[in-house]
Amino acid sequence: MIKDYIREDLQEFIPYHAPVKEYDIKLDANENPYPHNEKIISEAKKWLEDCNNLRRYPDTDCNELRETLAKYWQVNKENVICSVGSDQLIDSLLKVFLEPEDKVLMPTPSFSMYKLATKLNRGTPIEFNLNDDFSYDVNKIIDLYHKEHPKCVFICTPNNPTGNIITDNDVEKLLNVIKCPLIIDEAYGEYIEESMIGKVKDHENLIVLKTFSKAYGLAGLRVGYGIASKSMIDAINIVIPPYHLNALSQFLARTVLENDAEYDNKIKEIVRNRKWLSDNLQTIKYVEKVYPSYANYLLIKVSDYSIVEVLENKRILVRGYGEQGELANCIRITVGTEDENKKLIKEMKKYL
Ligand code: PMP
Repeated sequence: MIKDYIREDLQEFIPYHAPVKEYDIKLDANENPYPHNEKIISEAKKWLEDCNNLRRYPDTDCNELRETLAKYWQVNKENVICSVGSDQLIDSLLKVFLEPEDKVLMPTPSFSMYKLATKLNRGTPIEFNLNDDFSYDVNKIIDLYHKEHPKCVFICTPNNPTGNIITDNDVEKLLNVIKCPLIIDEAYGEYIEESMIGKVKDHENLIVLKTFSKAYGLAGLRVGYGIASKSMIDAINIVIPPYHLNALSQFLARTVLENDAEYDNKIKEIVRNRKWLSDNLQTIKYVEKVYPSYANYLLIKVSDYSIVEVLENKRILVRGYGEQGELANCIRITVGTEDENKKLIKEMKKYL
């Protein structure tokens, strides 16, 4: 039986696959709700018209995209690595640094991929709780670091799904102590106009992960990247397969970044929409709490969880976390366009 050949630790493993649901309004995956402008679309069409672009393998080292990113972040090209979504970098870091059963420190609640990728790479996830208001307790992380001797430490800022950030001061404290790879995931960093990338030049063990999936609206093309010391980038490259990132993704990510002013305006709009959405959610009786957020989503706690299904029946998707566990009765709502947010609030108010 083929099952007998599966790695023993994966025999009972249940892989996560996001369910496919029909919708009119999609507020469940933190995507950018605005369309790309005509210029980007016409560049994409032009690119497709040159059939060499499809026939030839992509640049395995993503040279042009890395050059554009290096210029954007004022680092050297050798400090940049591109990947198939930042998910691939999360996996690759663990692949290259973990021996079986090595420990990995990660926040909870946070992005589920840290734990999943750790397990798939035969490591042991060690989760540290965030404070009640979801802020980071760096002293707790430092104590755990001394006790557990992890091989990698993850920080997510703004944290998904809670929306809180870690302060610059706290990152400095961590960097003073932590010697193993420290991975700061800034998938939603564009919404705070701040980055820890500036610290990379002084810390060989720091890597900052970014993505084109969120603020830059390219989730369908799967482009992530990391900024780190040359030695960190060289280490990850050991396990990145050749020709990993397709040519269209490389080209469009570059095009989007070269037109970043357009996206900056959309980011500002989403931040304004977030305030409107938060204010309006707070007026709904069964919404017990709206957590403050620095990202393009809001985490809320409700007294009646059936609203998730009610909205789904109205073809509005949000991300519910179930009625059990540390996020019991919590729902993450991606900030949509003005119109989408109004429709959401209208439906939520009907259900009183
Ligand atoms: N990090 C965080 C915190 C995320 O929320 C996500 C997407 N949900 C990712 C990384 C992965 O993004 P991608 O692979 O699309 O770049």
